[in-house]
Amino acid sequence: MKHSAEIISVGTELLLGNITNTDARDISIMLSELGINVFYHTVVGDNPERLKDVVAIAKKRADIIITTGGLGPTCDDLTKQTLAEAFGLKLIYDEQEAETMRQYFKTRLHANRPITQNNYQQVYLPEGCTVFHNTCGTAPGCAFEAQGVHVLMLPGPPRECMTMFRLSAMPYLQKLSGDEIISHNLHIFGMGESSVEDRLRSRMLELQNPTLAPYAKDGEVRLRVTAKAASADEAEALCRPVIEEVRGILGSLIYGVDTDSLENTAYGLLKKAGKTLAAAESCTGGLLAKRITDIPGASSVFLGSAVTYASGAKTALVGVSPATLAAHGAVSAEVAREMASGARRTFGSDLGIGITGLVGPDGDGSDTPVGTVFIALDAEGTIYCRGVHLGTDRQRGRTMAVHHAFDMIRRYLTGLEIE
Ligand code: ATP
Repeated sequence: MKHSAEIISVGTELLLGNITNTDARDISIMLSELGINVFYHTVVGDNPERLKDVVAIAKKRADIIITTGGLGPTCDDLTKQTLAEAFGLKLIYDEQEAETMRQYFKTRLHANRPITQNNYQQVYLPEGCTVFHNTCGTAPGCAFEAQGVHVLMLPGPPRECMTMFRLSAMPYLQKLSGDEIISHNLHIFGMGESSVEDRLRSRMLELQNPTLAPYAKDGEVRLRVTAKAASADEAEALCRPVIEEVRGILGSLIYGVDTDSLENTAYGLLKKAGKTLAAAESCTGGLLAKRITDIPGASSVFLGSAVTYASGAKTALVGVSPATLAAHGAVSAEVAREMASGARRTFGSDLGIGITGLVGPDGDGSDTPVGTVFIALDAEGTIYCRGVHLGTDRQRGRTMAVHHAFDMIRRYLTGLEIE
């Protein structure tokens, strides 16, 4: 049976726009990996009457209801009481969870904080429920089945919510279908979501098991292949030919399967090849350096990056010739190439990256269109350069420029075409 879920996020802060509903987004991603349809997201404030109303509606249109938030110790945390009442269940004091909470207070930073009486409100749980332990906080979650509906309650803070989802809710939901579900993510760079979809549309429509679904994330496109079968091995066997088929269609646009990010891929390849990297960054203002140094162990491959924002800095720090700047302008392939070589020379690295561009939102009065970015790679003496148009969104443009740089590095190190 194909299940359908509704996510009810409880919290007045969400309605006021103070916080973004990342819990619903992240749970939806996980549910789609489990093959569970999500037809509705509902947001409701910390108000028991209105929560009761939305639960009454959700009961009629979903067989799985997942709530987030409102499990804590304060008086506006009313999710458990309201849901239990809506399904005619009593709340029962759970001594085991009370002890877990006492231990949590003792062992974490809370050593000197007394456990106030209202903290115990958190350990009253619906009779007969499956308890979900909270490994990052104090409020337990839970799940129960009543009136033909499975209800799962998770805490609001995203770390608590998603950890509990992975450790407790996911196994609970997997048992409902009785199937093993396996999914793999193919990471694509260099083609937009609509073009990817265009190339694969007929297969996406035909395929039932595994399913094939594209989604955009962090400036790149991913394709998720999800299979269901009686065993994990069988589900894997269903995924494999589809992954190979998609590889055949998209080729080197796929930079990894179930990998972390482009920078991780570039980092892994640099490390494997024993090569070092340096950069000179203009419009990205050090973002490349930040992204690669986010990776633990980056010092084994990354030597440094000069933020050469002004033309004078491009000359003083990485030796870009004033004549090149005057002849072609700071946003040009020629300057990017000299920046890449200059970075390599200055830092003494094997590979050098140069990034210069106009990331907007406003133009600089010249003919250069906003969004024009040049990314150059000096790979052990051979210089490659890409000129791209990244639109007028400043942050997106900067992120994409850095992605291009990492993509050029991975292409060089795997012998693929670069420009
Ligand atoms: P606590 O034990 O901290 O009280 P709780 O389950 O009662 O947890 P809430 O009080 O509803 O959760 O929310 C606590 C915090 O969690 C909010 O202030 C907010 O920062 C974050 N949060 C709540 N709901 C969401 C959501 N849907 N998406 C993202 N963050 C959320």
